[in-house]
Amino acid sequence: MLLGVGGPFERELDGFQPREVQQEMASVVATTLQRQEVLVCEAGTGTGKTFAYLVPVLTSGLKTIISTATKTLQDQLFHRDLPIVCRALGTDCDIALLKGRQNYVCLYRLERAAVSAEVEQRRLPLLAAMQRWAESSDSGDLEEVRLLDDDPALRGVVTSTTDNCLGQDCPRYDECFVVKARRAAAAADVVVVNHHLLFADLMLRETGFAELLPNADAIILDEAHKVPEIASTFFSHSLSAQQLVSLNRDIRVGADDEAPDMPALKAALANLDLAVAMLRQVLGSQARRVDWASLRDSRAVADATQDFGRALLELDETLELAAARGNLLANCSERLAALRLRWEGFSATADEERVRWVDVSQRNFTFYDTPVSVASEFAGHLASSQAAWIMTSATLAVEGRFDHFLSALGISAARQELWASPFDYARQSLLYIPPLKREPRETDFERELVDAALPVLRASRGRAFFLFTSYRSLDLCAAMLREELDYPLLIQGEAPRSELLRRFQTTDTGVLLGTATFWEGVDVRGERLSLVIIDKLPFGVPDDPVARARSAAIAAAGDNPFKRLTLPDAITTLKQGAGRLIRDVADHGVLMIGDVRLKRKSYGRAFLNSLPPMPVTQQLEDVEAFFHGR
Ligand code: SF4
Repeated sequence: MLLGVGGPFERELDGFQPREVQQEMASVVATTLQRQEVLVCEAGTGTGKTFAYLVPVLTSGLKTIISTATKTLQDQLFHRDLPIVCRALGTDCDIALLKGRQNYVCLYRLERAAVSAEVEQRRLPLLAAMQRWAESSDSGDLEEVRLLDDDPALRGVVTSTTDNCLGQDCPRYDECFVVKARRAAAAADVVVVNHHLLFADLMLRETGFAELLPNADAIILDEAHKVPEIASTFFSHSLSAQQLVSLNRDIRVGADDEAPDMPALKAALANLDLAVAMLRQVLGSQARRVDWASLRDSRAVADATQDFGRALLELDETLELAAARGNLLANCSERLAALRLRWEGFSATADEERVRWVDVSQRNFTFYDTPVSVASEFAGHLASSQAAWIMTSATLAVEGRFDHFLSALGISAARQELWASPFDYARQSLLYIPPLKREPRETDFERELVDAALPVLRASRGRAFFLFTSYRSLDLCAAMLREELDYPLLIQGEAPRSELLRRFQTTDTGVLLGTATFWEGVDVRGERLSLVIIDKLPFGVPDDPVARARSAAIAAAGDNPFKRLTLPDAITTLKQGAGRLIRDVADHGVLMIGDVRLKRKSYGRAFLNSLPPMPVTQQLEDVEAFFHGR
């Protein structure tokens, strides 16, 4: 057995320990690949699931797409894991990394930006530096250089979108980095992508990558618990203020270049700018996700949307007349026509299988038309594919079952496997549920939470992640901890995520306070992370328009939305957060969850049953004894 005792991994890889559970998973993956079936599997932390699927993939010789949830994991797979496995197997496999087009510099747009009157003077030296780099780069991957660090907004100017790419009409097409990356991917045996790119292509919004999917023999979705949410985003139709602003910028450049004698075009542009500004004003700048049905009845919103629709139509018609003047305006005309169609779809009569909502933020607003369920659409892609599909994650099951995940994606026939973590949780960990009087929604909950957390943080000598379900709780607790705790605090928002993690790794007694972004994809091994505190059970926001529509659909079908949706989603999130604690056989630590509903409510049992088998206590003395015993 390649991953077993005496195999090439044990012989050649420092610190590699053969694990029965990993070998078992590798064997099931190999069978699934061979039979072109669907496998849905949870592999607990420490199983070694990455090697367990890479080894059968690389030995099968099948053309495979591996998709992960984030670009960081994508880079890790491509730059670290795949080369290790190829070396150990002695294979010279052709692998490719494919990212979304916003990761590659667009030679055409860069060149235009460098001479455009629309770009501010202060940006010109940076654009010149980018041109010098782009001329010598092999990949055009912006990760190669730190040039955009001081001006991240420039990324939108020097990269392309599916909408504004000129495709084969582009004068730089033959040298285009996006085209080259896609050609390399099409020729490779194994292509590493991320879920966003995969779903963008499933929806055929991109061109060029689409031929990869039908040709793949196997598709592996790692971090598959993120798939339903990402699929929901990509199966939505959307229209944002930012899209319009960027399109308007391109139309202006096109008008100057190709139709300077058409003042009507500039006038129509100005009208649309004004209508977008009015909409922005009536929607407000307070961040929120709000149901369209509850907004559109307001007189101000109704007037602003009517003006917006009219301005969109006027510009669309004017641009259609100008489209024959050149490539730029022709491309803009196509893009605007597509956006107008989306707007017409959004403002048409409601469809009960879709939910319309608006995401408002300080600088942007986006209209969304989202399917209430992605099940039939995803199942359709699965059914039409000839490939083997393997969906894996450390957090897919709820109380040992996959029903929630399977029904969200409409998967009716799949082999299901659950491999528990090989870690000895009974010895390595302790779950502490402090006996708080208050439940999370009650006044002064955060005060009581911090009072309970302080002695635990002292017993662990810092070395902790304090994970929150909301910025509000984080801010309240951070203010108290600043006054009352002597250990260095690393607080989300005070530095970029990667910098906070770097500081945590180099600080002996650090306490990192963070929200959702720190619940997943963070791997801190050893004593530096000995305590994870979670403020409360991570139930979703009850008035989220998409969650509400999904709950209503479940209730209308006679089922219980809390049991079918709210609870399983919260359990999956809690498992992710809790999973930060024990990352290695030598790790030890305490998980504190400051939510007494775990003990008081009947559903608390479902959370406890889904967590790794940690001993549970409500006594602070047990926590102190756990740390003092080390
Ligand atoms: S083909 Fe598209 S992405 Fe490539 S250089 Fe041209 S406009 Fe940019």
